[in-house]
Amino acid sequence: MQDLWFDPAELLIGGNWQPASGAARLPVEDPSTGQGIAEIARGTAADIDAAVDAAEAARAGDWGRATAAERGRILTRIGQLVLERAEVLARIEARDVGKPLAQARADALALARYMEFYGGAADKVMGETIPYLDGYTVYTLREPHGVTGHIVPWNYPMQIIGRSVGAALAMGNACVLKPAEEACLTALAFARLAEEAGLPAGALNVVPGLGEEAGAALSAHPGVHHLSFTGSVGVGEMVQAAAARNVVPVTLELGGKSPQLVFDDADLDAALPFLVNAGIQNAGQTCSAASRILVQRGVYDQVLARMAKAYRGLRVGPALDDLQLGPLISARQKEIVSGFLDMAAPDQIAAQGSLADDTPDGGHYVTPTLLAGLSPDHPLTRDEIFGPVQTLIPFDDEDHAVAIANGTEYGLVAAVWSQNGARQMRLAKRLRAGQVFINNYGAGGGVELPFGGVGKSGHGREKGFEALYGFSTLKTVAARHG
Ligand code: NAD
Repeated sequence: MQDLWFDPAELLIGGNWQPASGAARLPVEDPSTGQGIAEIARGTAADIDAAVDAAEAARAGDWGRATAAERGRILTRIGQLVLERAEVLARIEARDVGKPLAQARADALALARYMEFYGGAADKVMGETIPYLDGYTVYTLREPHGVTGHIVPWNYPMQIIGRSVGAALAMGNACVLKPAEEACLTALAFARLAEEAGLPAGALNVVPGLGEEAGAALSAHPGVHHLSFTGSVGVGEMVQAAAARNVVPVTLELGGKSPQLVFDDADLDAALPFLVNAGIQNAGQTCSAASRILVQRGVYDQVLARMAKAYRGLRVGPALDDLQLGPLISARQKEIVSGFLDMAAPDQIAAQGSLADDTPDGGHYVTPTLLAGLSPDHPLTRDEIFGPVQTLIPFDDEDHAVAIANGTEYGLVAAVWSQNGARQMRLAKRLRAGQVFINNYGAGGGVELPFGGVGKSGHGREKGFEALYGFSTLKTVAARHG
């Protein structure tokens, strides 16, 4: 593949780029065409063992001795290199995961922002002094966990690596990263840039491989002191169970069925782009996709008509054509999403987009679909589809809206569209979610904003300053001096 300036079939352990033990490889497919474009290493449990050892050695060596300011400077340099190569990273990501180029570019810029943010924050995490008994001085220290394991999905590789590895490195942990088997190329590119920026050997180790092999080995490894997992609920449960056996903390960033609530007094012109975009961005393969649009009855017909019109204008095509939507990640994902769509009766399909003329036959394309007239407990309204599908649901009043919004097992993100300030404040408290947006959605990515879920959406917070607390542990020092 043209833009790769490194060998993608090598993994990174302790500063050495090498094949997987056993030398097995996995094919890399371009979802826009279904064609193979490269091969990556199929990391094994032995590679995970070696990577954990290398991380532990880095903690005992240069990386462990680096001051917070030095760690911050390295992260900032990585951010600069990511910015300089953003265009190449975007093209690699577009080919690897089928993301339209503009969206892949936004991910590369977000990765750079994470490095800048955590580079700047590294030396600003402080402990406290605690008033205590006469003759004592008590203070707290924020210390790294040690070796952190990072298991990442395929939908936003650069953003998720940025938020989790960035925060972990800022606190002085040494990381073992297991990217998703469908999306390893930008993880490897990132590690090359980190090396170029002067990150010491072993501070970041990257072991691509299958979830049930390399991923399971990492989550069960007794040498890992903290696990950060982003992915599906089912695998998250397994990772948490494995972490429990080693009694280590785990951050779970899982799925969602996030609602946007549109009230009769909403500014619909402002809302409309947010309503549609939050459903179709990354072809709906977004944990925080707003897959449920709850609309008060007074404006329901109007919102339905306007969203349907927007949907009919949506076009799907190869990532490099940079239309509103690219393909789904894989044939399997297309099958899952198509299976959901088969459940909709024809009169429940309010509008659909269309495929561009030149979509290659082997690509995994699905047309974006707006649904209406389904009950709130229908599987299409209740379950995470992870494709470009949104459902409109009418509601009567605030209580009714809250009951529907909070009526799934998830709680990741929610939005309120209303001009009424008191209502905005009430609902921000009543909605069950890790983030609530008022008259916007997603806040432009929000590197600075703590993010995470409740219920089956997971627990723990990444992003923002809060993540630095998650990637560190608190020690209390009590000195009796008389
Ligand atoms: P997935 O759970 O199948 O895979 C995620 C990662 O886990 C991959 O790296 C995979 O190799 C690894 N894995 C698979 N089996 C494993 C095992 N037995 N042990 C350890 N690791 C294993 O998820 P996916 O299909 O890649 O991603 C889609 C899901 O991720 C959706 O549910 C989505 O909502 C969720 N997601 C959540 C967030 C968030 O921040 N909350 C962000 C992106 C995606």
